[in-house]
Amino acid sequence: MPAAILALDQGTTSSRAIVFDEAGRPLASAQREFRQFYPQPGWVEHDATEIWSTQSAVMAEAIALVKSMSPRVEIAAIGITNQRETTVVWDRESGVPVANAIVWQDRRTAAMCDGLAAGGHETFVRDRTGLVIDAYFSGTKLRWLLDRCDRDPERLAFGTIDSWLVWNLTRGAAHITDVTNASRTMLFDIHRAEWDDELLALLGVPRCVLPQVKSSSEIYAKTTDGIPIAGIAGDQQASLFGQRCTRAGMAKNTYGTGSFVVMNTGEHAVSSKNGLLATIAWQLGDGVVRASGAHSGGGTKGAPEARTTRCYALEGSIFITGAAVQWLRDGLGIIRTAPEVEALAASVPDSGGVVVVPAFTGLGTPHWDAYARGTISGITRGTSAAHIARATLESIALQTADVLDAMQIDSGIAIDELRVDGGASTNDLLMQMQADIAGIPVIRTRVPETTALGAAYLAGLAVGFYRDLDDLGVVRASGALSGGGAPEARTTPQLVFTPQMSASERASMRERWARGVERAKGWAI
Ligand code: ADP
Repeated sequence: MPAAILALDQGTTSSRAIVFDEAGRPLASAQREFRQFYPQPGWVEHDATEIWSTQSAVMAEAIALVKSMSPRVEIAAIGITNQRETTVVWDRESGVPVANAIVWQDRRTAAMCDGLAAGGHETFVRDRTGLVIDAYFSGTKLRWLLDRCDRDPERLAFGTIDSWLVWNLTRGAAHITDVTNASRTMLFDIHRAEWDDELLALLGVPRCVLPQVKSSSEIYAKTTDGIPIAGIAGDQQASLFGQRCTRAGMAKNTYGTGSFVVMNTGEHAVSSKNGLLATIAWQLGDGVVRASGAHSGGGTKGAPEARTTRCYALEGSIFITGAAVQWLRDGLGIIRTAPEVEALAASVPDSGGVVVVPAFTGLGTPHWDAYARGTISGITRGTSAAHIARATLESIALQTADVLDAMQIDSGIAIDELRVDGGASTNDLLMQMQADIAGIPVIRTRVPETTALGAAYLAGLAVGFYRDLDDLGVVRASGALSGGGAPEARTTPQLVFTPQMSASERASMRERWARGVERAKGWAI
């Protein structure tokens, strides 16, 4: 009987379900948006009940769709990936949330975080959790919800969105999360992979509300329909896994509105000095590790430690990348659609000395300057819209190169290729610039849904759908993708962008960019 894996991709604006075949090809998918609530400036909420109703609806739709195409197909497992940090508290008896979910973007606990930082806890929190103290993470959001709920904590359950989905998929039989989601709570010791009593005391969170922490790939429970739930990872970690960055030194960048760059650092968490976050990338369950012979080597290259059960990552955030192209379209009106930027930028051989720093909302990794604002430097009488378009694309690649540098400095591990996905990664000129500016090959995936695919891979490993990490996405009979030891990019040349730029040209471009960034910093004071 043909088997497939169902990935549930619970994002910030929509719930999606995608059914993948063995080779990682999407067979069917369904998607529903849900409401966003902005009750006060800086507050963002979701109705967790609506998250569940949209997620269960798209799950049923995707399964029905795939069954209508191939009636004999069997769903072998479910993998879950989710918007991270978003916080839900519900009543264990009724299963009803006590309030709306507080979304990752929500800033209401910023003052609480300032208090923690002023109390001198920053180093302690960073050492234990890999995070900076920030309202972004779940811990202070949970504390906020608990402070406003008068029920006995024993009756309450906390969860990130993965926990909430599993609770509902199992009708309350399982209250769990995985190590990647736990890594984003500010309550979790990423080295021991356990909830941390000192952090719980610092944030005033009672242990009884917490889910049990599991690996990212094991059979956790079955749905009420008997399908094993077998993989969980937060969205960026799932994307790293979906890109098969399974060895230390492998990195991916997702080019969307902003960009998330994530690098596998192997079995050690790296403490960053350059504004990166450390996090657990994934942990494979004991059964999966044994079955895949993970300790016996057998990889084609790279560090053997990356084959151990738990893998760490460094993560960098760039606030504005694709959004700078939107600005060219909507703010300047020099293009009508985002893809038109490619032809406009390609109409000039270089940016004519123009540097665009799209620090519209400040600068993230590695600068972390909330007061930086956008600049265009180096304008002359000869500057045209094409030069500005080209400099804007370059800024996306240059910001990414800065993050890759920070990762290599912090980890001491060289990154020898970058795997890419997201809306702006369809731009060939941008990808060539990225290869030129970072000085490493850029490999564009054929399956754009790498986040959902990562969740499907994690679940597929746990149920024996895949033998091991080298088996992910391999087509055994016939098909387009190759797998494992011979990455598909090497055999499908149109997906690889290799550096063409001379070292001196690269150095002068990066030096000019660094000067542009200095001019953008500290502007909004
Ligand atoms: P998100 O998930 O953040 O909404 P997507 O992955 O859908 O983002 O990517 C959309 C972003 O990519 C937009 O900001 C858009 O401006 C940008 N984009 C889309 N196509 C191109 C292109 N061909 N060249 C450059 N940027 C593009």
